Amino acid sequence: MSQDFKPRGKHLIAGEWVGSETTFTSDPVTGPSYEFAAGGAAEIDSAVKAAEEAFAVYGASSRAERAAFLNAIADEIEARAEAITAMATRESGLPEARINGERGRTTGQLRFFAKHIEKGDYLDRRHDPADPQRQPQPKPDLKLMQFPVGPVGVFGASNFPLAFSTAGGDTASALAAGCPVVVKGHQAHPGTGELVAEAIHEAIKKTGQHPGVFSLVQSNRREAGEALVTHPLIRAVGFTGSTGGGRALFNLAASRPDPIPFYGELGSVNPVFLLPAALASRAQKIGEGWAASLTLGVGQFCTNPGVAVAIDSGDVETFMSAAQKALEQITEQPMLTAGIAEAYRKGRDRVVGLNCVRVRLTSKAEGRYVGPDLLETTGEEWLANPELHNEVFGPFGIVVRVKDEEEMRQIARGVEGQLTCTLHMDDADTALAASLMPILQRKAGRLIANGFPTGVEVSDAMMHGGPYPASTNASTTSVGSLAIRRFLRPVAFQDMPTSLLPADLKNA
Ligand code: NAP
Repeated sequence: MSQDFKPRGKHLIAGEWVGSETTFTSDPVTGPSYEFAAGGAAEIDSAVKAAEEAFAVYGASSRAERAAFLNAIADEIEARAEAITAMATRESGLPEARINGERGRTTGQLRFFAKHIEKGDYLDRRHDPADPQRQPQPKPDLKLMQFPVGPVGVFGASNFPLAFSTAGGDTASALAAGCPVVVKGHQAHPGTGELVAEAIHEAIKKTGQHPGVFSLVQSNRREAGEALVTHPLIRAVGFTGSTGGGRALFNLAASRPDPIPFYGELGSVNPVFLLPAALASRAQKIGEGWAASLTLGVGQFCTNPGVAVAIDSGDVETFMSAAQKALEQITEQPMLTAGIAEAYRKGRDRVVGLNCVRVRLTSKAEGRYVGPDLLETTGEEWLANPELHNEVFGPFGIVVRVKDEEEMRQIARGVEGQLTCTLHMDDADTALAASLMPILQRKAGRLIANGFPTGVEVSDAMMHGGPYPASTNASTTSVGSLAIRRFLRPVAFQDMPTSLLPADLKNA
């Protein structure tokens, strides 16, 4: 497919491209804008009803059929690679290499889930055999396995137009589980969303799936998101975005007559603890590495390491100077949307306006463009000012100079729930690191030694979630094979004749 794809500007609802009376205009960083249908409650209702109809078939389909469908989606995305890259780079402003990498991750995720369900261990099948002789009561025969929950709502994420959007990790894991998906597209990349929806549409036709198994509703209206979360037939929701938006939608999900799980991945500052021996041996290298991680994708990663904590010393200055020098080389770049750039400057200015911070580097960039900002504060000031604990989404770094090991532990206790916490340490730091571990384990889903949190592996042992506000459910992840658990629920069968058991239990 050529790069000159011109979007139809419609929703894909149960296999049909349909419009809406209301429209919005896309706002790409470069290239032409297009008109898109702006769906509301009516479009969501049609899509969810079709998803419920599809569930009757898809929810009971074999693992091999679902794996073939996931692989077909990956193939169809690859068949549109050129057009997807062209559209996604224009809409997001992210460089071509990043978009190509993200596309590879997206198709890799789909194939990863195909393999995962073929193995079957995710079903977590259990069997307690009967014991008719047991006293005082006979023991029944119990078999258990995991079942798909039903239609799932997914919100496309602005910062990953592919890997966390239309056919991203939430969609892949829900489809793998056996759940039809209704995506509320993100208004920041509707053209990319349409291209990926077209790929899924083609995969549906080629593998003979029910058309209601996937729908994309384009919208820039709150009404669409609210309708998706509150629709009586939706059984679970996957979301990546802001803490405010995610919390509002979580509250809506919880206030339904029948509350449903809302898996929101929200804000995180991903603190990095720089221990003294590591800093003494390689402060400059760590400073350069931190600056690179902080500015990757214009800082628009949920795992962006926004806070570095170190015991004050000359080595901290070496670390900061190295980071500052590296950040000074970085040119101003466009953020995903004008609104996100605006929110970045507001967040930055709010922190800069506090008396408790010193600015080392700031940017005067305007409009959609931003440059990195580097600030410093003391441990005492950080502890006294909760405003410093909040995420500023973008290339924003703050270094907290603490007076001693105990103050470092206090900072660790003081941070909110996180996706990640990182330790930079040498052997001589082991005792301090060991004293931080029990604190950090309670704070974050992933603990990292001598690395940086950006770059999330899609694998069996990955955890991408954490205590609130990192996510709204700390027991699960939005990346890696465990993500499928969000869209499953266990059902037990007591003394059930084999003829009535699902195939996956009959054959177990
Ligand atoms: P967002 O504002 O949370 O929006 C995400 C999605 O949720 C959009 O589809 C949005 O719809 C919908 N939505 C948000 N609040 C809603 C509500 N109250 N009712 C119904 N729907 C609602 O996130 P964003 O647009 O991606 O970016 C805004 C800010 O989010 C950024 O500046 C950043 O701070 C944060 N963010 C964080 C992460 C992270 O990983 N931590 C990732 C992305 C963004 P509409 O667009 O139609 O309003």
